[in-house]
Amino acid sequence: MRPHNRVTLMTSITTTDLSFDQQHIWHPYSSMINPPSMYPVVSAEGVRIKLEDGRELIDGMASWWSVIHGYNHPELNQAAHEQIDKMSHVMFGGITHQPAIELAKQLVEMTPANLDKVFLADSGSVAVEVAIKMAIQYWHARRANEGKTNTKHKLLTIRNGYHGDTFGAMSVCDPINGMHEIFTEVLPKHFFAPAPQTGFDQQWDEADCSELKRLFAEHHQEIAALILEPIVQGAGGMRFYSPEYLKTARQLCDEYDVLLIADEIATGFARSGALFACDHAGISPDIMCLGKAITGGYMTLAATLTSSHIGETISSGGAGCFMHGPTFMGNPLACAVANTSLKLLRESDWKANTQRIQQQLEAGLSPCRELNSVAQVRCLGAIGVVEMKQPVDARRIQQAFVDAGVWVRPFGKLVYVMPPYIMSNEDLAILTGAMHQVLVKMENS
Ligand code: PMP
Repeated sequence: MRPHNRVTLMTSITTTDLSFDQQHIWHPYSSMINPPSMYPVVSAEGVRIKLEDGRELIDGMASWWSVIHGYNHPELNQAAHEQIDKMSHVMFGGITHQPAIELAKQLVEMTPANLDKVFLADSGSVAVEVAIKMAIQYWHARRANEGKTNTKHKLLTIRNGYHGDTFGAMSVCDPINGMHEIFTEVLPKHFFAPAPQTGFDQQWDEADCSELKRLFAEHHQEIAALILEPIVQGAGGMRFYSPEYLKTARQLCDEYDVLLIADEIATGFARSGALFACDHAGISPDIMCLGKAITGGYMTLAATLTSSHIGETISSGGAGCFMHGPTFMGNPLACAVANTSLKLLRESDWKANTQRIQQQLEAGLSPCRELNSVAQVRCLGAIGVVEMKQPVDARRIQQAFVDAGVWVRPFGKLVYVMPPYIMSNEDLAILTGAMHQVLVKMENS
């Protein structure tokens, strides 16, 4: 046996630690031979992230859509403390607990009608895998019950989508910007319709759905489900499309007996100005994926909801149960924090607040429209996007934002923000002012 060594945990980040980080730690989408420099963060409070050197940055990213109530929130902290003193985790197989029951109740109450069976997953990507498996298992069971051969093994989706980094999720991400090129030999092949072209507020043009209609008409017997991000396509392009498209997609799913999976992992919990983006179109999907903001960004948790009909059909098929059960499913600590996060959201006037944020983002980002390098500025709910004509130099622009006192992390041609909902008008003005100032600087250098 090894001697029992005393391990001293570090309390502050030194330059040696940062070079260790560069040499040994893989950050999201980063290189091991040319790693970008990392900004060491020691704490965060409200809408501000504090760097090791004492500087504070106004956070425009809400830690990738998740920190809706701000950092270090007293009620969320309390929920975590109270739960950790009872139990941080217990397996979910054969055991249940109050935080999971309470969370499922809240989710069933909040989400569109029909969604009343809840599967608690551990991340957004896993929630998407679960949704895909539900759709596949549904058709497997239904056809078996009908005494027919099942031919519905494929998915249909729309271009410019993003659904996560695991294999099932990757297979329905945009084929050009979604890693298909590298994994093409291993990814299952699905059907892709063109991305919707009619913007959120634009006059609806039926022709926008013609290719989608053709794919339904020609291939519905092979298609288990249509999966899409309702209204807002996030990491695949930050595009906002017409609710009419979503309504038509729902109608086509009904007409051709195809399930509709709404990936609301980014849009759920009021980000687009509606509690769920599906609400903009007044539709209810057959399966809905939720994640990110569910715990107010405190820890990882996701959920896949479906209808009684789908839940019961899956359970009546060959296996007699749904074939998924991750180790940390229904983690009590995450559920307890999620319960408080959802309570905070439901008790707030989220509609008026996201309208306020949209107005501030519109006003603050509108001067960017005058820049030659800018292709389009668009805002919806608590999302503000400046699309550039050319991809930005990510490292240079990131440094310029930090120097301007804000945290904005662009990718490709997209310089965008989705701030915590608690951000004041003053801080929103500083954030958008810094975006304009940095883009002017980039244009003139
Ligand atoms: N779906 C959508 C729409 C997303 O935006 C994301 C995350 N960016 C995911 C799925 C995957 O979630 P996670 O990163 O938690 O696995």
